[in-house]
Amino acid sequence: MATAHNAPGKHYRKGVSLVQAIKQFGDDAKAEAWFVARRWPNGIQCPKCESDAISTRTGKRQTPQYHCKDCTANFTVKTDTIMHNSKLPLNKWALAFYLYSTHLKGVSSMKLHRDLDITQKAAWHLAHRIREMWNDETGRMAGPTEADETYMGGREKNKHNSKKLKAGRGPVGKSAVVGIKDRETNTVKATVVKRTDAPTLQGFVNTHRAEGAKVYTDEHRSYEGLDNHESVKHSVSEYVKDQAHTNGIESFWAMLKRGYHGTYHHMSEKHLERCVQEFSGRHNARPLDTIEQMDALTKSMVGKRLEYRDLVA
Ligand SMILES: [Zn+2]
Repeated sequence: MATAHNAPGKHYRKGVSLVQAIKQFGDDAKAEAWFVARRWPNGIQCPKCESDAISTRTGKRQTPQYHCKDCTANFTVKTDTIMHNSKLPLNKWALAFYLYSTHLKGVSSMKLHRDLDITQKAAWHLAHRIREMWNDETGRMAGPTEADETYMGGREKNKHNSKKLKAGRGPVGKSAVVGIKDRETNTVKATVVKRTDAPTLQGFVNTHRAEGAKVYTDEHRSYEGLDNHESVKHSVSEYVKDQAHTNGIESFWAMLKRGYHGTYHHMSEKHLERCVQEFSGRHNARPLDTIEQMDALTKSMVGKRLEYRDLVA
């Protein structure tokens, strides 16, 4: 199904056109077959007892029900995945996977609402559940690595007067995000942090780099004291002093911010973490073909949950 149509970003990856995506996932039965083949490549298995003695019931339901002959559990391909209890048909889920894999700057829930013909509430919940799938550990980075922090959200001038924080400029009213990038693998890990003090930033770096891995940062004092560390002074424009630069992680921030401001406009601090996950997850999947990215998302859907009531709590 992949053709000469290039995926966005790099030229050698195989993309999937919207027309192809609709052909492959546009109807519910095809989408069901696609999800089943990826979740259970060796045949349908009971999520409860792992038995493969399964019978299928197809009735009026859009999604076939499976029945475990051993433990009598009834389940669907959605059971115990991020799609658990979702009333959205599988073709809309598959097309949402497609949209998020191919839109480098993210997909607003308004766009999902219009393109998938679902309510705004369903679209908003769907968007957050897709982001939640990218919440995977990346493994420790062998490096060399670059670490940096940035500030997101809360553009003061866009806020209603009563909500403005009367505390001057700079990072006030914004959320700090810290990130690390492995130069060898191009992998990024980033997270929202409450503080940018030394324990927080150094703790983050040391959690995500392998022992002894080199780290480059800017001259922020919170990084002082890290092992195998070199900093670069932005203020005296010695930017690319041999290897001592943070251009890699900064280009990730640029992509994150373009998407955040261009597509999402604003996201509450509570949801910002998932937005950061979305952009780092997609960044890390960039070398894959579109269909491989969708496969990877499908593999990480099992065992994850994000209920609507938890989102609005
Ligand atoms: Zn069972």
